Amino acid sequence: MAVRCRHMSQINISDMLTSYDKKNLRIATVCSHSSLQIFNGARKEGFKTLGISVGDKKKIYDAFPLGKPDEFFIVDNYKDILKYTEELREKNVIIIPHGSFVEYLGADKFLTLDLPTFGNRKVLEWESDRKMERQWLESAGLTMPKEIKDPKDIDRPVIVKYHGAKGGKGFFIAKTYDEFKKRIQKNKQFVIQEFVMGTRYYVHYFYSPIQDNAYKLSKGSLQLLSMDRRDETTIDEVQRLGSIAELEELGIHPTFVVTGNIPIVMRESLLPKVFKMGADVVEKSQKLFGGIVGSFCLETVITEDLEFKVFEISARIVAGTNPYVAGSPYSELIQPDLSTGRRIAQEIKYADKRNKLNEILS
Ligand code: AMP
Repeated sequence: MAVRCRHMSQINISDMLTSYDKKNLRIATVCSHSSLQIFNGARKEGFKTLGISVGDKKKIYDAFPLGKPDEFFIVDNYKDILKYTEELREKNVIIIPHGSFVEYLGADKFLTLDLPTFGNRKVLEWESDRKMERQWLESAGLTMPKEIKDPKDIDRPVIVKYHGAKGGKGFFIAKTYDEFKKRIQKNKQFVIQEFVMGTRYYVHYFYSPIQDNAYKLSKGSLQLLSMDRRDETTIDEVQRLGSIAELEELGIHPTFVVTGNIPIVMRESLLPKVFKMGADVVEKSQKLFGGIVGSFCLETVITEDLEFKVFEISARIVAGTNPYVAGSPYSELIQPDLSTGRRIAQEIKYADKRNKLNEILS
């Protein structure tokens, strides 16, 4: 799905912020995904928070007093958020988008949302179209899994991905053209990638265009805050019942639906490569669309030759940061108790103090 950013030209952050009471900025997000962490991080940095919720979710958040927003903003439907932007601006909100926020609202609507939003929304166009994503990552020098254009050329295990499928839904593995033919849903657009053998690491970075206190780039600096491995049903536990080949003979196929996230660390000797990949992606993004800002995640497989293959980028806070509400083995070496949610709040605070909010919001 290609998302065009034409509407964004109508959004003028500086104009919007002139009406804001800067002493009372409020961090807002949709109550889902990584919101407990975002509210908790904002609270630690002294911000008031607002949780946009479909229906009353107060009961859930009451169970987590330190992750609960100060105020709820209840809507009937996420798309209704667009109707209330004036009201939300009066509350001085800065939106922190997460994966579910963009998904529930719809990418097109997210781009027209007339509210100051953390990060550069132009990234959505490059991230949501698999061809443009590949162009970005490969031109940055990263290695992606090989793409197989014609299913007849399947000569190794491949993973077939449907366009716009969320959370790996419907993805399947095939080892031959015959297997592919049996499983493919004809009415859907798809890509075929080599199935990379190795171990998965989902690496959580934070790029600041306005601070120079970490891994230095030509402008700003990059931090490694944490990493996780996704727990995907049924592929990750299917071996409890038998090998995939055995199960497939019975017509039972593994699926890739994310149910949670597992903390992980990487052997230290791989960190130079991790920083180089992150830095190259940021530098390239600046040339392509004015630059990614804040949190992003590279989804990788490390092969037995210790090479990284990157199969996806997520250009905002990912749910894989949730195990680290109280810091990760990496962020603890930057500042104790630093989650990605808290780091986002710090960036907003830092930018606000120096009149640089328009460099980190869009
Ligand atoms: P994605 O939606 O691209 O993040 O893929 C969903 C899941 O499929 C990932 O979290 C991985 O477990 C798996 N996956 C995706 N691409 C590949 C690949 N090329 N090789 C092996 N596993 C993959």
